[in-house]
Amino acid sequence: MPCPFIRETSALSCRAAGIRKLIPGQALASAGRCSSPDWSDCPYSNSAPDHAAPSCPFMEESLVQFCSAAPVTRFIPYSEPLLSRCGSDAYRYCDLYLDVVSASRPALNHSGALHAPHDLLFTSNHWWLDATGDGPCHLGIDAFLARLLGPIDHITFATPHGIARPTAIFTVRGTDYTATFSELIPIDQPNLRLRNHPARLTEDPYSLGWLYEGMITAEQRRRLRESLLDSSSAAQRMEHQSTLLNQRIQSHLSLDGAPLAADGGLFAPGLLSLLPREESLVVFNEFCLPAGRQERSRS
Ligand code: SF4
Repeated sequence: MPCPFIRETSALSCRAAGIRKLIPGQALASAGRCSSPDWSDCPYSNSAPDHAAPSCPFMEESLVQFCSAAPVTRFIPYSEPLLSRCGSDAYRYCDLYLDVVSASRPALNHSGALHAPHDLLFTSNHWWLDATGDGPCHLGIDAFLARLLGPIDHITFATPHGIARPTAIFTVRGTDYTATFSELIPIDQPNLRLRNHPARLTEDPYSLGWLYEGMITAEQRRRLRESLLDSSSAAQRMEHQSTLLNQRIQSHLSLDGAPLAADGGLFAPGLLSLLPREESLVVFNEFCLPAGRQERSRS
């Protein structure tokens, strides 16, 4: 489904000019020389075969699209947006769209539990994948991992392009935590805005805080829908792991008087940064490594 802000109109352009400039048809019809008999005074029209024509023969009409939410209108040839974010369900990850409709999805639901949006798929090590529609797919980290990390100093995109297991390194108070999506994805681009606004990752993990955009085939979508967790399984898993983490905090970890468990039964936001470095890495590996690597790290 295309973005509700995308609009279509017809535009005119000049085939004789060196630079292609698209002008909305209505604007030109009311004021332009190109569509009046004065067109033959234009220096670009010298090579026209018929100077008696009522409008310039170099004038070309085409269908264009533009974003009605953008402060500055930019026309795009009709076929291009279909390949991009505006012409597919991926519009839901556009900064402008999210800003205009305030459509961010919270990390906690109305009852204060960790949220798992119903339209996303999840991995056991706390990544989500949006494989709806047939346009670009998006990936990020879930509410559990976002809360565990808390405020991030820096994000490094370890797999910025190409077919890879999407991987990001989160630096929190000088310690690096490496998170990897468990499946191979053809990656188009990382969310580079997170470099300047890393807080988006943990404050808005399901919308502005997306990490990677990729393009997967229909067959891959079908396979991933079968192999990854749906939202209700993911919500249960997050709740179960929160309980395990709270038990671990109470029975094993060096508390030193730090407020590690927050009110309401959830562990404190930014828990990793409250723990001694070695313990924080043990907790991260236990809860956030892909399944196969968790086994190896225990042995
Ligand atoms: S730029 Fe963003 S808001 Fe505008 S049409 Fe495209 S997806 Fe929609």
